Amino acid sequence: MSFNNLGLSAPLLKSISKQGYITPSPIQQKAIPVVLQGKDLLASAQTGTGKTAGFALPMLQLLSKNVPAKRRQVRALILAPTRELAAQVFDDIKNYGEFLDLRSSVIFGGVNQNPQVNALRNGVDILVATPGRLLDLHNQRFLFLDNVEILVLDEADRMLDMGFLRDIKKIIGLMPKKRQNLLFSATFSQEIKKLANGLLHHPVAVEATPENTTAEKVDQLVYRVDKKMKPEAMIQLIFDGQWQQALVFTRTKHGANRLSEKLRKNDITSAAIHGNKSQGARTKALADFKKGSIRVLVATDIAARGLDIPLLPHVVNYELPNVPEDYVHRIGRTGRAGASGLAISLVSVDEMEYVQGIEKLLKVKLPTQILEGFEPTEKLADVLKDKKERDSAKRSRHSRPSGNSRRNGGRKNNFRR
Ligand code: AMP
Repeated sequence: MSFNNLGLSAPLLKSISKQGYITPSPIQQKAIPVVLQGKDLLASAQTGTGKTAGFALPMLQLLSKNVPAKRRQVRALILAPTRELAAQVFDDIKNYGEFLDLRSSVIFGGVNQNPQVNALRNGVDILVATPGRLLDLHNQRFLFLDNVEILVLDEADRMLDMGFLRDIKKIIGLMPKKRQNLLFSATFSQEIKKLANGLLHHPVAVEATPENTTAEKVDQLVYRVDKKMKPEAMIQLIFDGQWQQALVFTRTKHGANRLSEKLRKNDITSAAIHGNKSQGARTKALADFKKGSIRVLVATDIAARGLDIPLLPHVVNYELPNVPEDYVHRIGRTGRAGASGLAISLVSVDEMEYVQGIEKLLKVKLPTQILEGFEPTEKLADVLKDKKERDSAKRSRHSRPSGNSRRNGGRKNNFRR
């Protein structure tokens, strides 16, 4: 199969060859002809499958057929959950559309709106946006969606996870009813299915990998370790494997900070990214990681959404997510675009139930090994008891008595001393 057989026009084939793509990826082979026919699409695809070109190439072709002579209004809208993903999609669209007379722009929150407003004033055919800033600029009457012909929801599951459902519904209400809709999602919860049912008309369903299964090129491995030994186990894996680039997931922001600090103390360059870090700090950490000056990026799920890190060799679940779909997302960041990758999970006894949830979702058994020197000894009951004690200590730290409480004999906050 070659790109020449997909019905794409010469300017697009030229930009594809400039990108160095030779064969269309499975999702591109399936999605491109469907979108070119003007049909709605329901695509099951995660980052790394080439999904962006899967919708961007045919969308550019459809839009280039009739470029309006006068003032340009948004004719294609792509909604993305994060600024990182929006920026990435925008870059791809610019590259793919290099030899076409179409204008594109990107808008997202957290930065000054003026340059975005100026770009909109000049007229835009294709707009990539995060939902919040889009509504904000629409409310200020800087943009209109009355002429949208194509709507793309990219990483729709992520948008719902991040609480964008209401915004998405509002945005849909601002567009003409007759339009083409494309929905991309890595996972299909009941919520996503409901959104898709309301949005898509007789959609063609395409899958990059079978629903809720992981990319074939990713080798998955579980190491059973004691909770308290995880930092040391992590360090040993990095040194023994001579890893130069690993993305490590923790469940909490504090956990990410603590691990990153521990790695740095052991001469492993590392940075943590999570919701408490500024946009500037996140962008810098990611840029340093991409160029290789940081070996280990420690991230929470939210912070990692939408990151585009090509050819990532190692992904580690330092702690397993309690939502099995998040596991699929996390390990989807390795083994990308034809390269193979390794996804390792460090699993303590109290996390074994999450392994079962993941295995049920993926319908495979995860290979489990013991790391030499880190043979697990912890008993579930002990770990749960420790956790209970820690949680209750935390609760008593946080439950401050109110000022007029008499229960503590009039003493105020003396637990703080
Ligand atoms: P995506 O899933 O859209 O984020 O794409 C993942 C990566 O694959 C990006 O770095 C693309 O530039 C690259 N890519 C997309 N399509 C192809 C293709 N047909 N051949 C090789 N690389 C591709």
